[in-house]
Amino acid sequence: MAARLALSRWRAAPAAAGRGPLLSCRRWSGAKADTVYDVVVSGGGLVGAAMACALGFGAWDHICNMRYRAFRRMQVWDACSEALIMFDKDNLDDMGYIVENDVIMCALTKQLEAVSDRVTVLYRSKAVGYTWPYPFPMTDSSPWVHITLGDGSTLQTKLLIGADGHNSGVRQAAGIQNVSWNYDQSAVVATLHLSEATENNVAWQRFLPSGPIALLPLSDTLSSLVWSTSHEHAAELVSMDEEKFVDAINSAFWSDANHTDFIDSAGAMLQYAVAFLKPTKVSARQLPPSVARVDARSRMSFPLGLGHAAEYVRPRLALIGDAAHRVHPLAGQGVNMGFGDISSLVHHLSAAAFNGKDLGSMSHLTGYETDRQRHNTALLAATDLLKRLYSTSATPLVLLRTWGLQATNAVSPLKEQIMAFASK
Ligand SMILES: Cc1cc2nc3c(=O)[nH]c(=O)nc-3n(C[C@H](O)[C@H](O)[C@H](O)COP(=O)(O)OP(=O)(O)OC[C@H]3O[C@@H](n4cnc5c(N)ncnc54)[C@H](O)[C@@H]3O)c2cc1C
Repeated sequence: MAARLALSRWRAAPAAAGRGPLLSCRRWSGAKADTVYDVVVSGGGLVGAAMACALGFGAWDHICNMRYRAFRRMQVWDACSEALIMFDKDNLDDMGYIVENDVIMCALTKQLEAVSDRVTVLYRSKAVGYTWPYPFPMTDSSPWVHITLGDGSTLQTKLLIGADGHNSGVRQAAGIQNVSWNYDQSAVVATLHLSEATENNVAWQRFLPSGPIALLPLSDTLSSLVWSTSHEHAAELVSMDEEKFVDAINSAFWSDANHTDFIDSAGAMLQYAVAFLKPTKVSARQLPPSVARVDARSRMSFPLGLGHAAEYVRPRLALIGDAAHRVHPLAGQGVNMGFGDISSLVHHLSAAAFNGKDLGSMSHLTGYETDRQRHNTALLAATDLLKRLYSTSATPLVLLRTWGLQATNAVSPLKEQIMAFASK
């Protein structure tokens, strides 16, 4: 699809910049006020930049030249019992890839340079206002969306794509309702050095009563940490000295302090029953690698919340990524959902462009909304339910989730369905 497209990229608060691009920013000089862009993407985070790249998506080649890690298994287990679920492929194929934010951002930036004949990137440029066209043509009125930038200049476009994160100014300016709440948790992230080099191709996640802790492989000796916990504990983890922090991580993965005899016996009963009915397939619990140290300055924390826009589209407007949905990181699906939005939107826009239709028309934008809301709402609801179910050590709920996890682990087709759904 050939399109004239502008991407506005604004580097916001230092914390967000830490997760965002590590770029040498250049000032915008190319866009002209009287140009009508086919598409303008407001927001140059992971999702907005990928949307712009989707015009000629070759970013994966750049990622392969930098750093990514395939994982072949995923083990998720409960700190209050022996229950676990193991996802893998029978033939040990790769299940997915762990790629750091900065690597994706760098690859997307390279790709944006490669499509610079079609995409203008407005670095250090903040959108400060949006003017929508009247619903019906009127004399002297513009049929396009107008975007006002911080330096007072304006852009006009047939389709504005809001990719400006969970506090989306585009969504607010359009008056689109957003269901949202904050969780009582923040997530601590860090890059960790393992005690010894390993194959390191397993993604680990353990549900502690205070929140899930995940260790995701980056290389033979490096893994990435995402530890969701109370705000107070997160602040403590970020400020404690390195040795204590490393001890806290190892203990969070290894300690059985939250086990009770009753739950262990009840879990063992179901495990025997499963082994009797299905004697061949046993997923033994494995222990994650131990952590030796943390990369200096890689430790930071982010408050967590859920959000969902009631509408993803309006005439001449589409929301994608966190602007449309914000999810707890326990399923590692946030940006994947954003990439799924891109794939769907590109599909619908390509069909519209091929048929010579107006890119901002609702006739194809609603197709995108239907596809993605169906998928995203199910994932948001499931993630929120899991967060709540695992945020307690109350015996009846621990028993329920122990049996639920063991039963799910025993039913391979169900696990395959879960994997297939998460990858959409
Ligand atoms: C701790 C943590 C761990 C996570 N782990 C995972 C994981 O393992 N897997 C996964 O898939 N997802 C994960 N996520 C989710 C993922 O980080 C987000 O879903 C993703 O970053 C959203 O990207 P985005 O581009 O939609 O929004 P953002 O990253 O918020 O980017 C929005 C961009 O828009 C810009 N912007 C905002 N307003 C304006 C404006 N007015 N003008 C111009 N630009 C503007 C911002 O500066 C920013 O660059 C995690 C999230 C957290 C908090």
